[in-house]
Amino acid sequence: MSQNSEVAIIGAGLAGCEAALVLARAGIPVKIYEARPIWRSPAHKTDLPAELVCSNSFKSIKLPSAHALLKEELRLLQSPLLGIAQQTSIPAGSALAVDREVFSSTVNNRLSDDKLISVVHEEVCSPPLKKPFCIIAAGPLASPNLVQWLTSSFLTSSLHFYDAIAPIVSADSIDYNIAFFASRWEEGSGDYLNCPFDEQEYKLFYEELKKADQVNARSFENQKFFEACLPVEVAAQRGYKALAFGPLRPVGIINPHTGKRPFAVCQLRKENINSDSFNLVGFQTRLTFPEQKRVFRLIPGLKNAQFLRFGSIHRNTYMQSPQLLTSDLSFKDLPNLFLAGQICGNEGYTESIATGHYAALSIASRIKGKKISPPSPETAIGALIKHITVSDNDKFTPTNIHSGLFPPLENNGKRKIGKAEKKELICSRAIESLKRWKTDL
Ligand SMILES: Cc1cc2nc3c(=O)[nH]c(=O)nc-3n(C[C@H](O)[C@H](O)[C@H](O)COP(=O)(O)OP(=O)(O)OC[C@H]3O[C@@H](n4cnc5c(N)ncnc54)[C@H](O)[C@@H]3O)c2cc1C
Repeated sequence: MSQNSEVAIIGAGLAGCEAALVLARAGIPVKIYEARPIWRSPAHKTDLPAELVCSNSFKSIKLPSAHALLKEELRLLQSPLLGIAQQTSIPAGSALAVDREVFSSTVNNRLSDDKLISVVHEEVCSPPLKKPFCIIAAGPLASPNLVQWLTSSFLTSSLHFYDAIAPIVSADSIDYNIAFFASRWEEGSGDYLNCPFDEQEYKLFYEELKKADQVNARSFENQKFFEACLPVEVAAQRGYKALAFGPLRPVGIINPHTGKRPFAVCQLRKENINSDSFNLVGFQTRLTFPEQKRVFRLIPGLKNAQFLRFGSIHRNTYMQSPQLLTSDLSFKDLPNLFLAGQICGNEGYTESIATGHYAALSIASRIKGKKISPPSPETAIGALIKHITVSDNDKFTPTNIHSGLFPPLENNGKRKIGKAEKKELICSRAIESLKRWKTDL
């Protein structure tokens, strides 16, 4: 195919890289436009593609959860990025976590080794509409110039919510006389490092956290947070035990030093294969840096913690997709322009890979002269696409995959199905449905 048939992709993030590799696999040439290093969002720290801006985890791989189901469907579709995540994974119990640098470098090598893919480094302020197809995958932190083009071209306003990043500490600054390795319910091989609180330590931590200084507290007054990723200090405002029942829940953990379950526990996950740094799971925060140092050092075992990265907060932009997009993720008013990744209204790393993959399949179908039909909403990918394209526009907010997005099981009122069996049935129904959809592609 000639350069004229190149698909343009704006953004070498998770959605953009996945889309590029899927298109190239189908023999379609791709040009990726990536703004870094010319323009860089406040959350991105490297010039590598597919950078994971916060956690290094793609969440659970343990079926029958909704998160694991989405990954199983992507595995069935031979998702390039999921394959690289598996290849670069590090031990994390029932989650798929990666060494973030090795992951992004491997994606980089895959892009540069592929003769059908070229990458140019420039900030795109308006998409190259002369290309036969274009995917905007510029992410939740898309450059303001591009967002301005989107809102003025489609006479719409962009929407936003706030998302925060958790801090990372160096492994050699942790007190291992207090912290201990264990996974909840002893699943996995004790991949998490646990900092146990007794009630007195928890009370002190809770009180100091509640009164700690926050970045730009005034300008954030009416901010909307993504419920599944609340800053730890916002969760604390919900009550004394909100953290002990939330990110600090001690269930399934026994402290080997005392033989007892702690009152609360802060879990730390390995950041890389060398295990020389850990991130504080669930500790996304908007506290000022000095306050993060002061308050998080009250966590037992972290008294002398050295912070390699502090937590921070960012505004996430997304478009009013149900009003703007059709079921193949193209714009109703510009059918050769597609939107994918978090800017289209999914939330999360794996979800962004999923919509990037689907947008690429949509274009590959169009090139073959067909229009793709999305997979059934019984599947995780289909449920996400339905949410993005068919939701009530006024109430539309981005979502990660969860069981509430799936249609109910048909049981014809015959017998009561238990929760565990229900999850199993939902997953097997989805997998069968996706396999059928794949054969029709
Ligand atoms: C602060 C924060 C923390 C998050 N934490 C998590 C988490 O822990 N776990 C999780 O699952 N999800 C998290 N997310 C949500 C989401 O999964 C990630 O943002 C994910 O990277 C989205 O993938 P994407 O491909 O849509 O965008 P990105 O991965 O952000 O990729 C977009 C790319 O487009 C480029 N770009 C932007 N504008 C332009 C332009 N005009 N021209 C050319 N290139 C451009 C950017 O430089 C970037 O490389 C977080 C999001 C934010 C903002």
